[in-house]
Amino acid sequence: MSAAAPRAASVLWLRRDLRRADLPALGAAASAGAPVYVAFVLDPALWRRAGRARRAWLAATLRATDESYDGRLCLRMGDPRTVLPELVDELGATSVHVSRETTPVGRRRDAAVTPSLAGRGVAFVETGSPYAVGPGSVVNGTGGPYQVFTPFSRAWRDHGWPPPATEPDGVRIAEVASDPRAWDVVDAALAEPDLPHLPDAGESAALQRWAEFLHGGLTAYGHDRDRADRDGVSRLSPHLKLGTIHPRTLLAGLAQHRGEGAERFATELAWREYYADVLWHHPDSAWHDLRPALRGMTYDEPPTELFEAWQQGRTGYPAVDAAMRQLRAEGWMHNRMRMVTASFLTKDLHVWWPAGARHFLEHLIDGDVASNNHGWQWVAGTGTDASPYFRVFNPVTQGLTHDPDGEYVRRYVPELAHLPGKAVHEPWKHPQGYLHGYPERVVDHAEERREALRRYQAVRQSA
Ligand SMILES: Cc1cc2nc3c(=O)[nH]c(=O)nc-3n(C[C@H](O)[C@H](O)[C@H](O)COP(=O)(O)OP(=O)(O)OC[C@H]3O[C@@H](n4cnc5c(N)ncnc54)[C@H](O)[C@@H]3O)c2cc1C
Repeated sequence: MSAAAPRAASVLWLRRDLRRADLPALGAAASAGAPVYVAFVLDPALWRRAGRARRAWLAATLRATDESYDGRLCLRMGDPRTVLPELVDELGATSVHVSRETTPVGRRRDAAVTPSLAGRGVAFVETGSPYAVGPGSVVNGTGGPYQVFTPFSRAWRDHGWPPPATEPDGVRIAEVASDPRAWDVVDAALAEPDLPHLPDAGESAALQRWAEFLHGGLTAYGHDRDRADRDGVSRLSPHLKLGTIHPRTLLAGLAQHRGEGAERFATELAWREYYADVLWHHPDSAWHDLRPALRGMTYDEPPTELFEAWQQGRTGYPAVDAAMRQLRAEGWMHNRMRMVTASFLTKDLHVWWPAGARHFLEHLIDGDVASNNHGWQWVAGTGTDASPYFRVFNPVTQGLTHDPDGEYVRRYVPELAHLPGKAVHEPWKHPQGYLHGYPERVVDHAEERREALRRYQAVRQSA
C-alpha cells in the first residue's frame, strides 16, 4: 500500500453531532495526521419511525453538514452494524471516532457495532458527548446519581466543563462516495408536499440564531420564557437535538453575560443535562415510570376518540388545541404548552404518558427521548422530583395566564380568530364562540380533575 493509500485513515462517524465547530471527536480523529472520512449512516429502521417534519429536519441538516465539510460528507444507508464494518474495510481505516452516545438505543447500537470493528483491529474511540458534562459524571457524596434537580444542577456547575474545542490545524477531510440512494431519500424528504414550517438548518443557522438570541431575547428570557404568545425563547432545541450547536458553545457565550436571563438559560440547559443523566442511570425510564409509586394507577387505553381529538387539536380547550396544532404546523411546541397538553392527556383524558410521549417524539423536530420522556414523567407525576400527581393544570387558566391577549390561540386556531382578546380562551362564554365550527369541549375539566384525583387516591390506598 502506498503512503497516500489510507491505511491509517480515520472515520468520523457523526450521529447527534452534525457540525464541524466545537467537535472534540473531529480533533481526535485528526490527531494522528491521517485523512479523516466523515460519515453519517441513515438507518432505515429509525428513519421509518420518524414523522415527516423530523425527517425533513434531519434531511436539511444533513445537506447543511455536507456543505460544512466541503461536500465531503459520506452518506450511507443501512444498519450501522453492517454499514460501518463495510466502510472501514473499503477505506482501510484503523479507527472510528464518535461522540459518546448516551441514550439506550444509541448505547445498544454502539455496543453492537464495536465487536465487528474490534475483530478487524479497528479502534472505536469515543470523545466528548452531546452534553457539557457527560451523563454519569456528576455524582453525589456517595458516588451515586442525584435524584433531585436542584442539587444536581449545583454539582453540575461545580463540576464545570471545558471551553469549546477548536479544530486542529491541517485537518484533511478525505472524500469517498456516498450511497446515491441515501441522498435521494434525503432529498425526497425535503420535497414532501405541505411540510411544516421549519427553521433554517445547519450549524451556521444555529450559530446565527444563538447570536441573535444572546444579544436580543436573553435579557428578557427570565420573564418572557413562559409567554406562549411571545418570541421569548431561543428555539435552539432542534439544533441541540442534532448537535448543530453544542451546549459548551452556549455556556461559553452565557459566561460573557450577567443577569437573570443568562442565569435562567443556564438552568434550562442544566435540565437537559439532568434528564440525560437520569436516563443514563435508568435506561428503563425511557418508557416506564421512573418512580414505582403510581404503577398501580388505572389509565384509559388509547387510541380512543378522545386521544385522537387531543392529537388533532380538537379538544374544545383553545390553549390545548393551539399547542397541538403548533406541533403539527412547526414540529415544535412552546415549553409551557408542552406541560399543559401533557397534563390534559394524562389527567383530563387519563392516558398513560408513554402514548403522549410517543406522539411528541414522532412530530417534534427536537424530539429527544431524555428531555421528552422525562418531561412527560414530570407532568404525569411519575418522574424525578416530578410535579405531584394531584397538580392538575387547568387548561383555561393556563391559557389566560400564558397567552393573556389570546394571540397564541388565534395564530393556530382559525375557527377562533374572530374572537377578540382573551375571549378566545372561553368560546363557550361568547355568543359567537362556535360560529366557525370550533368543537365543543370533549370533556368537562372540573369533572375529570376529580376523576384523576379519585384514581390517585385509589392507588395510594392500595400501595
Ligand atoms: C412534555 C414535555 C416534552 C418535552 N419534550 C422535549 C423534547 O423532546 N426535546 C427537548 O429538547 N426538550 C423537550 N422538552 C423541554 C422543553 O420544552 C424544550 O426543551 C423547549 O421548549 C425547547 O425550546 P427552546 O429551545 O426555545 O427552549 P429555551 O427556553 O430557549 O431553553 C434552552 C434550552 O434549554 C433546554 N431546556 C429548556 N427547558 C427544558 C426542559 N424543561 N427540560 C429539558 N431541557 C430543557 C433545551 O435544550 C432548550 O433548547 C419537553 C418538555 C415537556 C414538558
